Amino acid sequence: MSAEAARAQEQQAQDKQAQERDEQAELEERARLQVAAQAGIHRLAIPTPFMVGRVNAYLIEDSPLTLVDSGPNSAKALDELERALQAHGRRVEDIELLVVTHQHIDHFGLASILARRSGAEVAALEALAPWLEQFGRETDLEDRFAERLMLRHGIPAEVATALRSVSASFRGWGAPVHVTMPLSDGGELALRDRTLRVLHRPGHSPSDTVFLDERRRMLLAADHLIAHISSNPLLARPLGAPADYDGPRPQALVTYIESLRRTSELSLELTLSGHGRTIPDHVALIDERFRMHRRRAERIRRLIEGEPRSAHEIAQELWGNVAVTQAYLTLSEVLGHMDLLLGEGRAAEQEDAGVVRFSAA
Ligand SMILES: [Zn+2]
Repeated sequence: MSAEAARAQEQQAQDKQAQERDEQAELEERARLQVAAQAGIHRLAIPTPFMVGRVNAYLIEDSPLTLVDSGPNSAKALDELERALQAHGRRVEDIELLVVTHQHIDHFGLASILARRSGAEVAALEALAPWLEQFGRETDLEDRFAERLMLRHGIPAEVATALRSVSASFRGWGAPVHVTMPLSDGGELALRDRTLRVLHRPGHSPSDTVFLDERRRMLLAADHLIAHISSNPLLARPLGAPADYDGPRPQALVTYIESLRRTSELSLELTLSGHGRTIPDHVALIDERFRMHRRRAERIRRLIEGEPRSAHEIAQELWGNVAVTQAYLTLSEVLGHMDLLLGEGRAAEQEDAGVVRFSAA
């Protein structure tokens, strides 16, 4: 056999192995969804216009009939949700309880329409309720907060302005919703066949809430844990902050890591995520995330060893043009890791003429 033929054969064998691995993963995923279905929990993947792709809503066959998250406020999302409900013999009008996991519009945008049509109760973390009820005002404040933060960390004014109009154009995929059932951290959400422990796990957003079925060892984790991507700890205004809040920047990544640590202590059989696949081993996934954040922090530490840099300069060094098109996301990433280094005393922060620069310490 010629070397070329041998290579071709080897490639073929590798492709086949990869295909078999994919098929095996697919079978295992179906089995886990079956386990969830046996517990009365059905995953409904709803389309969104965002880069993240579909969002997972979960229908819980119980009393009250419960829907955890709803998808964004769009005709397409509503249409697909209706069809997904129909596949389980249900209609929007049958829903009795809507649960909101956190403040991102791909998760709660449809909630107000669903609540109006069904008369369902709406449950969300107590501290999130006023935010959801005043969605328009809160996102305005959020945008102003983000703009100040971007300018302070070296993002050019025209980029900050452009991002603000992008954010405004997304506004329509959300809508204010009235919370009728405020939930408290550590409290219980009792349905007929199950009790869900309400756990506040801020970091990805200030309001992330996960729901633990202790008896079945099953966790509805929303965006607190996602199998195929690391959840971005986006910088956001603290919940309940005054309108003109300009205090210290929130420590989103530090907070997120602490939240992940607490989740890793839970004993779980299955974790159901807000996007993509189920998570069979949450501890392994959390360890992987910890290693990734550690590596990224070290990489950023090396970038400030030579000369002091702004967070935006660091982001450009790491991600090139993505640091411009997704300036706020990448800024959040850099600042999150910088907070880790600052906390360890390995970086210093200095503000000069309104722009913050970081140096190695
Ligand atoms: Zn989210």
